[in-house]
Amino acid sequence: MEQFLAVLAPMVLEPVCCPSCNSTDVVKNGKSDEGKQRYRCRNAECSRRSFIREYSYRGYLPEVKQQISDMALNGSGIRDTARVLKISPTTVIEALKKRSSPRTGEHSPATTNGRFTDDGDGRQS
Ligand SMILES: [Zn+2]
Repeated sequence: MEQFLAVLAPMVLEPVCCPSCNSTDVVKNGKSDEGKQRYRCRNAECSRRSFIREYSYRGYLPEVKQQISDMALNGSGIRDTARVLKISPTTVIEALKKRSSPRTGEHSPATTNGRFTDDGDGRQS
């Protein structure tokens, strides 16, 4: 699982993929106990019925961390931040915790050009 994600990362702001068949023909299927979004694969040939997108790795991307910081500074709540960035609230909290300890002033502003635009480019599959 972890390896699979590592292959997809970094810059894949993709629709959800089924971890078994790699199909993107998946639908939302409620939430897990931990509040993670659960998905169901609609590929008839796939044995995987439901899975959870373990994409909290997004929270580890420098640009996402930066956005978390920015949103926090702008007064966004944890849940708002999580929703907008499509990451889990836990990830937001973790990122904020890490950020608030020692001061690490070494973020590079060069990575902000691919700004997250709230799935507005109408890509459908
Ligand atoms: Zn599948």
